[in-house]
Amino acid sequence: MIKFGPSGFCDKFLENHSHSEEIPDWLTENKLNAFEYPFNNGIRLGDEKARKLKTLFDNANIEVSVHGPYYINLANESDEMGDKSLQYIIDSLKKMQLLGAKKLVIHAGSLMKNSREKAMELIMKRLEKLKKLLDENNIHDMFVCPETMGKHGQVGTVEEVAKMCALDERFIPTLDFGHINAYNGGSLKTEDDFKNVFLTLKKYMGERFRNVHIHFSKIMYGEKGEIKHLDFENDTEHYGPDFEPLAKVLKELDINASIICESRGCQTKDAIAMKKIFEND
Ligand SMILES: [Zn+2]
Repeated sequence: MIKFGPSGFCDKFLENHSHSEEIPDWLTENKLNAFEYPFNNGIRLGDEKARKLKTLFDNANIEVSVHGPYYINLANESDEMGDKSLQYIIDSLKKMQLLGAKKLVIHAGSLMKNSREKAMELIMKRLEKLKKLLDENNIHDMFVCPETMGKHGQVGTVEEVAKMCALDERFIPTLDFGHINAYNGGSLKTEDDFKNVFLTLKKYMGERFRNVHIHFSKIMYGEKGEIKHLDFENDTEHYGPDFEPLAKVLKELDINASIICESRGCQTKDAIAMKKIFEND
């Protein structure tokens, strides 16, 4: 099944709402059924509020995911810093149990001064450690979802993410198609381009490739990849990618995912636009 929703609180919601508890009703009014809660700058959601939101999201039948803190970096050379990042993941997952969210999106790591190979090696080592930590904390039905990244200084090509996720069934990919397109200077145009992304996952993960988390927005790019997120209306230079070919591939390959829109400011509006494309296709 494919679900649609925004990442965080869009400008239009913020114009006339002052409480996050109002978001489930707002999404229902807009016929959306997914939401990504931002822990981007820290896990600031209180326990009581998380429980209250869980009830509201459950009643509205909305699937909630969480974007983990940006300061997580599993490619840090210092083991002490690596351990801290792993602890942020565990702390996020524990808060998510109250919120009723099962998928945690993470940026696996930046190269810093290392080569890609070295950074990837550090990440794989930390993910092995994460498997043990998940077991120790009795976390078996939640998912850590490394994201495909848009900048050349970050680890997270489709292949790198597929290798990370092959390590454990609790790791599933976040395919950010705007990032994939931006990283490669506009590589996603045809249905085959999108299909190849899934086939790369399949090569490493087998049939588990059908369960993914998706971010979709149009993104401006340059020589070093991602520059900034756009919205559907202001992509006048046509950086893309377009959603139409992806909609077809999702159906053809029978993909199971929530599609989270990260358009700047109007992410709800663009999530609705994608849902319409998908349903009318
Ligand atoms: Zn992200």
